[in-house]
Amino acid sequence: MNKKYNFYAGPAILPLEVIKKAQEELLDLNGIGLSILEISHRSKDFDNIINTAKEKIRYLLNIPDNYSILFLQGGASFQFAMIPMNLLKGGKADYINTGAWAKKAIKEAKFFGDVNIAGSSEDKNFNYIPENLTLTSDASYVHLTSNETIGGIQWSEFPDTGDVPLIADMSSEICSRRIDVSKFGLIYAGAQKNIGPAGVTLVIIKDDLVEKSPDNLTTMLKYKTHAEKKSMFNTPPCFAIYIIKLVMEWIEKRGGIKALEAINEEKAKILYDLIDESNLYTGTAEVKDRSRMNVTFRLSSEELENKFLEEAGREGFVGLKGHRSVGGCRASIYNAMPIEYVRKLADFMRKFEKDNR
Ligand SMILES: *Cc1c(COP(=O)(O)O)cnc(C)c1O
Repeated sequence: MNKKYNFYAGPAILPLEVIKKAQEELLDLNGIGLSILEISHRSKDFDNIINTAKEKIRYLLNIPDNYSILFLQGGASFQFAMIPMNLLKGGKADYINTGAWAKKAIKEAKFFGDVNIAGSSEDKNFNYIPENLTLTSDASYVHLTSNETIGGIQWSEFPDTGDVPLIADMSSEICSRRIDVSKFGLIYAGAQKNIGPAGVTLVIIKDDLVEKSPDNLTTMLKYKTHAEKKSMFNTPPCFAIYIIKLVMEWIEKRGGIKALEAINEEKAKILYDLIDESNLYTGTAEVKDRSRMNVTFRLSSEELENKFLEEAGREGFVGLKGHRSVGGCRASIYNAMPIEYVRKLADFMRKFEKDNR
């Protein structure tokens, strides 16, 4: 049994119901006498799975018809390169530098064209979302990271980029709140934080951008290939897509994204209220830009942080160590994180503060 309170940043907690359902069906998928792990991706059973997964994503995220939903491999990191190789092509793109993940995207884009840093929060160690952007009117696109998993900052309102397509890395927040997909040209997300296991990346791309794939790109690297073949040009990550399907059914059962958004707000508030009242814990992000997915905080000394992590571990709270590049602590509270676990963590944090005054 799954007995620990899983606060890992990614791969991360999945709904227990989903894992149980996958376990139940693992030997025999829907009575077909075979496992999902061993059936052809061209079989009608898998076809059902991938189509259902897509339909549910389209329905839950309210994705317009002129967008394709793709399941690709290579992680969100591969999208850092695939986006500019398909859409930049020697032109210019605006990137907003909000932290570690944005930086990685910027590095890859520079291989394919000019990058204008349209905004940055590097001056304050990426603890806020920059407001005054210097966007280029003839940019191929504007790229942002909607939730910086490491720094713990999140965009609340997205910039208006006019006719320039807006592209967002939503890896660590996809399906956690309502978004207006029609405002974006492309949205991508590694599945392993909010919607599934590692091994598949969700890409939501507007049809006019699909058409921009250059002819001189190899087949696998073109969005056009995957859109035309409905993510079945080659063998897709079948098991990971199957789990996404189960997660989407779970979201639907819980009342959809609007319902999850409300719970996610509540979960984040529990921890931020505690941090704001505390003399021991300090939030690292500016209040207005705090992430509802990754709550980053520090204790008064590194020594105390280590003690905190150790005692938390003994109580069953895992994954609370901050990313190795920034240190500190981080509680990742994705969709599948039950609010009771967050309450338990808050109780533990209060007790730890009392004991260490
Ligand atoms: C985890 C993460 C990535 C990297 O995803 P991979 O699937 O490991 O390539 C990229 N962007 C953000 C915002 C992330 O949280």
